[in-house]
Amino acid sequence: MNALTAFPPLDIPETIAAGPGPGQTDTRVLARFAGAGLADHMQADVLRGMIECKHMLRSLWGTTNTYTFGVAGTGWSGLDAMFCAVQPGDTVVAFVNGTFSGIDGQTLRMKAATADELAANPLDPLAASVVTINVPHGTSVTREVIEAALTEHKPKWAFMAHWETGSGRINDIRALSDACQATGAMGLVDAVSSLGVSDFAIDDYPGIVGWASCPQKGVACLPLTYAPVSFSDRYIDVLKETGARTYAHHPILEARHWAIIDGKDAEKGTYHRTHSGYAVAAFHEALRIALEDGVANRAAEYTRHEAILREAVTVMGCDVTSNMTSLLVLDLPPAFKGREMELVQACRAQGFGIWPTLSEPVQVRIGILNLLSEQTITDIALRFGQALNDLGAQIDLAEIETLLRNRYSEALAA
Ligand SMILES: *Cc1c(COP(=O)(O)O)cnc(C)c1O
Repeated sequence: MNALTAFPPLDIPETIAAGPGPGQTDTRVLARFAGAGLADHMQADVLRGMIECKHMLRSLWGTTNTYTFGVAGTGWSGLDAMFCAVQPGDTVVAFVNGTFSGIDGQTLRMKAATADELAANPLDPLAASVVTINVPHGTSVTREVIEAALTEHKPKWAFMAHWETGSGRINDIRALSDACQATGAMGLVDAVSSLGVSDFAIDDYPGIVGWASCPQKGVACLPLTYAPVSFSDRYIDVLKETGARTYAHHPILEARHWAIIDGKDAEKGTYHRTHSGYAVAAFHEALRIALEDGVANRAAEYTRHEAILREAVTVMGCDVTSNMTSLLVLDLPPAFKGREMELVQACRAQGFGIWPTLSEPVQVRIGILNLLSEQTITDIALRFGQALNDLGAQIDLAEIETLLRNRYSEALAA
């Protein structure tokens, strides 16, 4: 058999990425990605680009943390780097209220498990030193829950997701930071979904020592680039004392290529691993766009568009249980309960990429990452309404269209 006939070139269609992530990549980012020349990871402009990215990231994230840079890969790569300071036997409190914080909790148990605990259940060890506080799906982690757990357990590390993308809930990082300061715990936050969407600054949360985000959600830089991370000096001091069992994801080592050496900004990065000039150029452009938009403006735009889409699906009879501004997590109208997967699959087959929840209960997730215009929000609402009608609903789509048009013209008038 001829390999060329067996494997023709791979065509991937353009879809509407209307899920929790990845978000639509800006055409400017793709142009930079494709327009970069082939240059190695020590070429002067690649190194300069990485240094500029580091400075832009500090500005986007509102921090003077020197150890702020990108970990090559996806959100889990950045989270793995952040969790690597957690040693076997370390005490941890992890707050879990959905799929992603659930996996973060699993990661923490892997890191904190003793050798015997890990051998007993290698993929999901029962680490005695980790306390998992389960908060029901569809609700947020509140100050009361955080204060009670940290006061009782006084752990070395306290973990929470900022925005839990599995259930679409925002958790109280102000309370986590305060409780960490009160009890001496070091806070670790999964900010994968909030960076670039929410208006917050790391330096306003002194109890939190480690932050990890991702390239493809609010930063809108899917061409697999960098997971932003930021660490306070306290985190780095602890890491210096204990070490970590990783080379690639070691925050102190990985930071060197971003010209952060011995706790200071250096003039030039030194080799840690091979970086792609294409990825650096794309990430650089995505950060430029984010700073050009401004965090506060972006956050306000997400809030405005989410409210309009929320109203449209509510009029269609859905019950929205999320409070993130980049994502709606909803229950279908009661008559269609149990048909969530059928609806999602029908939408996905038409290039309308919405998602179900990945853990119980089954709900539908519609995201608007980098889809902030009247035209795309209207398209999303009408496609979703049509999918419900295909299941047998009788939604008047003309009425929905009028509602959206009115809301957008009111917003313009205001
Ligand atoms: C998406 C997401 C992750 C995983 O990110 P990947 O880029 O898929 O590795 C982790 N945590 C949260 C809160 C997320 O939303």
